[in-house]
Amino acid sequence: MTDETEADLTGGAPRRRPKPSADKIGNRKLKPSTMMMGYGYDPVLSEGSLKPPIFLTSTFVFPNAAAGKRHFEGVTGKRPGGAEGLVYSRFNGPNQEILEDRLGVWEEAEDALAFSSGMSAIATLFLSMVKPGDTIVHSGPLYAATETLIARILGRFGVHWLDFPAGATRAEIDAVLSKAASGNVALIYLESPANPTNALVDVEAVRASRDAIFKGAKPPIAIDNTFLGPLWAQPLRQGADIVVYSLTKYAGGHSDLVAGGVLGSKEHINTIRLMRNTIGTICDPNTAWMLLRSLETLELRMSRAGENAAKVCEFLRTHPKVEHVGYLGFLEGGADERQADIYRRHCTGAGSTFSLYLKGGEKEAFAFLDSLKIAKLAVSLGGTETLASHPAGMTHLSVPEARKQALGITDNLVRISIGVEDADDLIADFEEALKAV
Ligand SMILES: *Cc1c(COP(=O)(O)O)cnc(C)c1O
Repeated sequence: MTDETEADLTGGAPRRRPKPSADKIGNRKLKPSTMMMGYGYDPVLSEGSLKPPIFLTSTFVFPNAAAGKRHFEGVTGKRPGGAEGLVYSRFNGPNQEILEDRLGVWEEAEDALAFSSGMSAIATLFLSMVKPGDTIVHSGPLYAATETLIARILGRFGVHWLDFPAGATRAEIDAVLSKAASGNVALIYLESPANPTNALVDVEAVRASRDAIFKGAKPPIAIDNTFLGPLWAQPLRQGADIVVYSLTKYAGGHSDLVAGGVLGSKEHINTIRLMRNTIGTICDPNTAWMLLRSLETLELRMSRAGENAAKVCEFLRTHPKVEHVGYLGFLEGGADERQADIYRRHCTGAGSTFSLYLKGGEKEAFAFLDSLKIAKLAVSLGGTETLASHPAGMTHLSVPEARKQALGITDNLVRISIGVEDADDLIADFEEALKAV
């Protein structure tokens, strides 16, 4: 989409997508945090406006009929790579394209797509890859709506699934993939860390297993990187082919929008784009614009939230009313050497979302939650503000009792997402709330 002939194809209009060299100063490759301020946007095309305007239009005027035909070849997948010009707002738009260019930068992905929600991104990915009789192999547990989509909705269309636990060893992954390989495996779908167990998936082991077991066509490996990405985990580097995001969380980061993203190779993105263009799961221009603003501070916000979480968890772990803190930063030197090893190979930070197990049960957990003053009682994560919730009674209420126990979703579990407030203020809030327990 960045080739030198684009000006001719759009009938002489200036280039919209970034030049291949737009990520360099001399020989220096720029960091994503720098590129978020300008990459993919040319003010000359918008009256010199420093920031991209929000393009509220349903359709775009073609410079000439030949350009219109050529753009439609891109939109319909007749020619891979997406449209070279703007066509119709169900397919593309300037705000969404700038967002996609910048999203890809964080993980050095070849291409990226923006969606109206994390779930519409995941659903579009699945619909573009599976057909009746196929199997999806996935790590477990997954985000509840993703599990519902695979088992209950795709299941109605004859799609099968097999899963392995998030923390599975190479041998365990091999066993499940070998069993699945007797049918047609369309996709291997991972989520790491798993929610709310925080178990990390060994993406390198999944990749090695996939490559060993599937000799011919290999099913792509997709992974939901919402909890640690793009700052603390970049699974394309460990061999994943496709990365999925709920941009509602850390990427949006202000709890004021819902959106999703998919990153990966041009080949896979072309397949997914064709489905998105058909069913219309792209995000709207206003949301794309808000995400552009969010991405400018992504590194600042995530770094601060991560530092805050480290301090808060350090305080909580020794508190007499706390049974256990499930925080990735405590894996090192802990009981589970295998998880610590995955953490060292896959993660550059522990994130800011963790599990707090209080001594007691629902009564104690509710007393704690009801006494918090700074932290808000709400589900979701990755915002500037600290949130706390009760998985057993809220997000995972409908999960059967036996499965809840197996996943460690007990009545004394509180799920916390730390924001960018002052760390000592947060500690004071938790300290006072623990007094009420
Ligand atoms: C929130 C979330 C989703 C779903 O995203 P929406 O933007 O709410 O559709 C998917 N996966 C994970 C891990 C999430 O936290």
